[in-house]
Order: sequence, then structure tokens, then C-alpha cells
Amino acid sequence: MSINIIGAGLAGLSAALTLAEQGIKSNLISAQQSERAQSVMAEGGINACLNTMGESDKIEYHYEDTMRGGVFLSDPNSVKGLCEAAPSIVKKFERLGVPFEYNRNGIIQRNFGGQKKKRTAYVKSSTGKMLMTALIDEVRKYEAQGLVTRYANHRFLRLIINDNRCCGAVVQNIYTNEILTFGGSVILATGGLNGLFDGMTTGTTQNTSDAAAAVFAQGVELANLEMIQYHPTTIQIQGKRLLISEAARGEGGRLFIKRNGKPWYFMEEKYPELKNLMPRDVVSAEMVTVTALPECDKQVYLDMTGIEKTVWKTRLSDLREQCVHYLSLDPAKEPIPVSPGIHYFMGGIRVDAEHRTSMENLYASGECACQYHGANRLGGNSLLGAVYGGQVAAQTVMTEAKEYDKKAEKAEESTAEASPAFVREIREILYRALPIVRDESNMNNALSELNALRNTAENQTEINRANLALAVVQSAIGRRESRGAHKRADYPERDDNKFKKQTVARLKNGKVEISFKEIGEALS
Ligand SMILES: Cc1cc2nc3c(=O)[nH]c(=O)nc-3n(C[C@H](O)[C@H](O)[C@H](O)COP(=O)(O)OP(=O)(O)OC[C@H]3O[C@@H](n4cnc5c(N)ncnc54)[C@H](O)[C@@H]3O)c2cc1C
Repeated sequence: MSINIIGAGLAGLSAALTLAEQGIKSNLISAQQSERAQSVMAEGGINACLNTMGESDKIEYHYEDTMRGGVFLSDPNSVKGLCEAAPSIVKKFERLGVPFEYNRNGIIQRNFGGQKKKRTAYVKSSTGKMLMTALIDEVRKYEAQGLVTRYANHRFLRLIINDNRCCGAVVQNIYTNEILTFGGSVILATGGLNGLFDGMTTGTTQNTSDAAAAVFAQGVELANLEMIQYHPTTIQIQGKRLLISEAARGEGGRLFIKRNGKPWYFMEEKYPELKNLMPRDVVSAEMVTVTALPECDKQVYLDMTGIEKTVWKTRLSDLREQCVHYLSLDPAKEPIPVSPGIHYFMGGIRVDAEHRTSMENLYASGECACQYHGANRLGGNSLLGAVYGGQVAAQTVMTEAKEYDKKAEKAEESTAEASPAFVREIREILYRALPIVRDESNMNNALSELNALRNTAENQTEINRANLALAVVQSAIGRRESRGAHKRADYPERDDNKFKKQTVARLKNGKVEISFKEIGEALS
């Protein structure tokens, strides 16, 4: 049995480790070393009901918050599995030596958006780095035993398909350009679709979206592509958006805007229960609303000046350093200007509860897959989803992996990448079409522009990216309601009758087709 994992961030590592612990070999293939995966950038924490804060937290509350936060677009059974597994996942990281913060009851947990209890475990502001360091080290042990074989600096090009079944992957060594083929099952763990918004997200542009685009071109279904999360507190810096982690608000940071010249803490006034820690879709939309009011300035600020010195030192040290470094502002001394920026992709490769995709013998997990987060992800649930999804995909593949014959492969591989100009053009079109509040005429213009752009494509990668971008826009047009991260000026209400469903995108005869399927419906 050969198992190939594409992507070596948290999801890929988690899958490789789960297999290795059962004595099963895998190839771990990634465009970059694990140490440079986006997972390393995660700051704020990972969610699990550990109930260490004297708040009588329960796994059911984690489930309820996740379902409500995702505006009921997630598969309830999958979310239940996620929340139930969370405590043992965090405890495993503890055993692997992750230096969480502790009090007398155990791991300290902080407030995070959309959660009614303190449930987010963290390591200062470097949670992702610490989780990754632990997993990288643990996987290394199995590499030494020959159970995991690493192919870092290898780019996924396409699946090998025979009779509509996945029977392997074609990859390219980035350093030598050599083409390699791997037979067997494939787990995709290639991260979010940042490349579609090159340089305009908080994540890494190394997650180009080309892997998702390639499998989409090969007939694999994608889901909920319109669900793109705008994080409320980001700042544009050279080449990307800088994230001001939700931990800042979890530790007492307050959003305000000047109304008639005086600070107005609008989230506190409008949402007295969760205040600044409402789910991200709600906070971002409120920022759009208040900046449009004639009596308000155009800039929202995050006021962290009330945060205690010890908290800055023990829990937010990296965040403070980043602000000083990139903005020449000390957030402990003055409010910083913030605005919403693209941060996370709830949509992606459509998977079932066991992380199978619509193609036999192909699996997906982590941010590249559409699972757990519905219409809006809660902070701290994505690291959890990546680790858990990797485990589930590995467990499924263990029981059903198959070695199908690879049919005779063509000798010439198309390896050309999308040109910077093409990537930029897609980004501009998508950014114009998919702001926090969308409307159909804008999105229709984007469709025409993307179709025209696709006609100028000079290689397969460009065609694939254009098709993926079209699928995102068509999904957004098709969902004629407002839900979570998808807000429409022309359809401001949520419509459960028609749209409490997954938006499914498929490429057929070169054309993007969109349909709506029941949540949890069997994959075709
Ligand atoms: C600044 C920031 C802070 C965050 N903070 C938090 C937080 O506090 N809590 C939380 O829960 N979430 C957080 N997130 C989100 C979270 O980090 C990610 O969703 C999660 O780490 C995704 O893990 P992954 O394994 O799916 O993908 P990644 O870690 O992105 O890994 C993707 C892997 O795929 C490889 N790859 C990509 N394309 C190809 C290709 N074509 N061929 C081969 N390999 C490829 C990459 O090299 C990499 O190895 C944050 C995100 C950002 C950007």
C-alpha cells in the first residue's frame, strides 16, 4: 500500500504521524520544508474544551459555538467529532513537549471570538510554531525508521487518474526540475487558496492554490468557495497583510471609531454579550457599516493600551514586536489603525466526514479541504481542524487505500507556472468582486473579466487558476442570501429553505457548474 501526502503543514504532518504510529509508510511531499509552512505563522491558539478556567465548559458548548459561528453550514457529525477529539489532541501536544501556559488547574485558556467560554490554549503568540516544532520532531523519529519519506521542495502538478480513480500523483522537484510519479492513494493537505489573492492575505503566498486548481481541472468537486474569511484586524504591509491576532481582543483589546470626534466602542454597544469577540464575519461587517456612517471617521482603531504589562510580556510579546517592527507603533502605548483583510478559506476540496473527496482513492484535509468551519471559522478551530482532519484522513486511507494500475503516462509534463501578471490580474478581479459585502452586478462583471482573461492564458496552470477563480465567483453569485462570511447587499437575509446547503463547484467540459447539495449528502 503506497500513501502519498501532499503538503507538510499541520494537516500533512498529522496524517503522516497517524499512519506511522500504526506502522504504515507514507511519502510526505511538499513545496517547502515544514518549517516554512503557513501553520508556523499561527499565533493565537488552538481550541479544546479542557475546562481549566472554572467556567464549567463542556464539549457540547464547543460544538454549539462552532455550529453557530459557521452559521449552520457545517456537517454536525463532523463538528461533533472535531470537538470530542480536541481535548486529547491538545493533551497529546502537551506530551510532545509544547510549552503551553499553565495555572494551578492545568493549561490556561483564553477568550477567542465567537466562543462563550475561555477555550483557546496557546503558547505566548507562537502557538503554530510550537505545535509544528513538536510534530516535525515526532515525525522525524519515524523518518529515521523509514516509515515517512520526505520529499520537500517538490511541487504537486496533477493526479494520475485511471478510470475515474486516483492512482497517484505527478510532482516536480523544484531544484532540479525532475518529474517524479508516485503511485497509490493521495491525501491533499496543501493549505488555503491564498494565491488567488496574491499578497493580499495574512497567509503565505506559497500556498498558490494551484494544487486545488489542478484537481478541480481533473474533475474533483470543490465546495463553499464563496466563504472567504475577512479577519477584522489586519494591516497592509509590504507584500502581504499583517495579522493582529484575535488574541489581542481576547486579552482585552477594544475596537473603536471616532464618531463626531469622540471614540465610539461600537462592538461593545451593539453586542453587549460578546462585545469585541463576536465572530469575525460579524465584526468585519460592522466595521464596514460604521466606517460608512456620515458622523464617523473612516478609520477603525484597536485600543490595546489597557492590557497589563505582564500580559504583554507573557502572552502577546511577538504581537507587540511585530507592531513596533512593521508599523513603528507601540500598541501598549497607543491605539493602532486596523481594517479587515482576507485571512482564511472555509471552502475548498469537498470531503465527507471521513475526508474522502469526490474521487475514489483521493482524500483531503486541513485548510485545502471544506470541512468543520461552515460559513465562518472560529479562531483557534483551524489548527484543531488541520490536526484532526489529518488524523481522520489517515485513518480512512488506512482501511481502504488501494493500489490501482497507473495507465501509460504521457512523457511531456506541463510544468509552466502562472506569470506574475496573470496572478496579479486574477487577484485584482477577485478583490473587486468579493469584498465583505457583495452584489451581483459586480460579480457578473468579474465573470466577464475572468472569461476574457482565461482566453489569454498561456499554459495549463493559468487556465486552471482562471477556472478556479470563476468557480469562486460563480459560487458567490449562486448563493443568493447572506450567511456568515458571504454578505450580499442584494440579498441581505439568510435563507435556510434554499441555502442551508453546500455550494458545490465542478468543472465539466471546460465549464464551471454550480449546484447546491444537502449538508452531509453523499459525494458523487
Ligand atoms: C497569520 C496567521 C495566523 C493564524 N493563527 C491561527 C490561530 O491562532 N489558530 C488557528 O486555529 N488558526 C490560525 N491560522 C490558520 C492556520 O494557521 C491554518 O489554517 C492552518 O495552519 C492550515 O494548516 P494546513 O496544514 O492545512 O496548511 P499549511 O500549514 O498552509 O501547509 C500547506 C502545505 O502544503 C504545501 N503546498 C502548498 N501547495 C503545494 C503544491 N502545489 N505542491 C506541493 N506542496 C504544496 C506547503 O508547502 C505546505 O507544506 C492562522 C493563519 C495565519 C495566516
